[in-house]
Amino acid sequence: MDTLSKTRRSWNMSRIRGRDTAPERAVRSLLYRMGFRFRLHVRTLPGRPDVVLSRYRTVVFIHGCFWHRHNACRLAYTPKTRTQFWLDKLNGNVARDRAISKKLRSQGWQVVVVWECELRNMDRLTRRLTAEMEKQVHHVSVPNY
Ligand SMILES: [Zn+2]
Repeated sequence: MDTLSKTRRSWNMSRIRGRDTAPERAVRSLLYRMGFRFRLHVRTLPGRPDVVLSRYRTVVFIHGCFWHRHNACRLAYTPKTRTQFWLDKLNGNVARDRAISKKLRSQGWQVVVVWECELRNMDRLTRRLTAEMEKQVHHVSVPNY
């Protein structure tokens, strides 16, 4: 495959999969500054998690509040037109997220979801991420993906 089509293909993929969105870059950069090291978009794990911290046996998904129906969040509104279409689509996303989390947890992973709206308060997000990783500190982790 030539470079151009490879580049174009990955650009298309990024549009489809929502890869490398601004919230995702912000969370990655925060985790990096907090001293965590991680892998990105690990294909061999269910749902291809955005960030994988194998040392903490933790995966992180960065979710847009609208697309993933953040509970009780004002960004997760239901459009007034084509309402049924949107409800089906958005509820489908939620069902898919739930199934993926369940699979990951059954494989022993902690699943952390960072919501887009949490990026408004980086200090609070930093504290939450620290707490999530602390839960896993005693976990003897052997990367197996
Ligand atoms: Zn939200």
